[in-house]
Amino acid sequence: MILIKNGNVYSPKFIGKKDILIAGLKIIAIEDSIEINSSDISIETYDAKGKNIYPGFVDAHVHITGGGGEGSYKTRTPEIVLSDIVSAGVTTIVGCLGTDGITRTMTNLLAKAYGLSEEGISTYVYTGSYQIPVKTLTENILSDLVLIEKIIGVGEVALADHRSSAPSIAEVRRLAADARVGGMLSGKAGIVNVHMGDSDELLYIIEEIVKKSDIPITQFLPTHINRNKKLFEAGINYAKKGGYLDFTTSTTKQFLEDGEVSCAKALKRIIDENIDISQITMTSDGQGSLPQFDKNNQLIGLKIGKQESLYRAVVDAVNKYNVPLEDAISTITANPATILKLKNKGFIKLNYDADLVIADQNSFKIESVIAKGIYMVKNNEVVKKGTFE
Ligand code: ZN
Repeated sequence: MILIKNGNVYSPKFIGKKDILIAGLKIIAIEDSIEINSSDISIETYDAKGKNIYPGFVDAHVHITGGGGEGSYKTRTPEIVLSDIVSAGVTTIVGCLGTDGITRTMTNLLAKAYGLSEEGISTYVYTGSYQIPVKTLTENILSDLVLIEKIIGVGEVALADHRSSAPSIAEVRRLAADARVGGMLSGKAGIVNVHMGDSDELLYIIEEIVKKSDIPITQFLPTHINRNKKLFEAGINYAKKGGYLDFTTSTTKQFLEDGEVSCAKALKRIIDENIDISQITMTSDGQGSLPQFDKNNQLIGLKIGKQESLYRAVVDAVNKYNVPLEDAISTITANPATILKLKNKGFIKLNYDADLVIADQNSFKIESVIAKGIYMVKNNEVVKKGTFE
């Protein structure tokens, strides 16, 4: 058992100074003070005075098998490794394929997700890639959702992007209908995670489907909404109609200079517009490729999206824009867990999974990370590494 004493607990709502008791995979008590005086039980105590405690982070859009490839074969990014995940405070991950649905496959994605689960974190995947019709693992979207436990939705399908399949409204509508029914039959969210590109089409296709069919706006989770100002403004309107928005945290300085909206600034705007923060998630797009261009638009290098950007965006929102910590942290914990119906994830609650991040209350620096009751990071040191690290 692990007893964490005197931390400032963000559940993600701030619930004050508490003690948290972990047994096995679960949180079994959250009290003002927990004292256990028994020599029969072995208890490890963690002094969390001066520390914040958050639910383990949920990063719901990560290219765990590597992404990229858009600058030919040599630009395919490598697979993610456990220490990159846990050192970023992430304990739950949703893996996805991207532009490349040819050399990256669903079988490979699922195997990588199983591997990461064996190494100690919790994993799920989306079925599909940018392309429509979706190349599924089994016969179709419905059977993928119903038969494969780890598959919780469809994505990332691309819209408004020169790399998309340029699908018709009818094709996307059919896809969303299948995701919805598959979700109903399996008790999952059946969410459609939509990659939004730079084209002026913006959110048009989703909005048309919502207008002209019974598919609710909440069936979709469009991502990269902060990639340019026009899409961001369209996203604000979309959220006012009740839609979910996902902001991407990994970026380069150049993209920000080209008009991308930083996630911290985006969160501030959401609060100012009185949009319910529970509609907002942030994801890292980790392990995807971030191309760098010189002044003449020549490719001069490639970077890889990092998961550490996720929590950095939270800290920036708090430090630079005075976004309340409990709101900012909810976008990478409770909100994705709720929207994606991830059972026992995203909250510090009784009987929920013991996924916790412990960080300094002043510097916000992550000090320890626990996933399913096991230390992944302890006192600033990664103690659980991937199999080949
Ligand atoms: Zn994408």
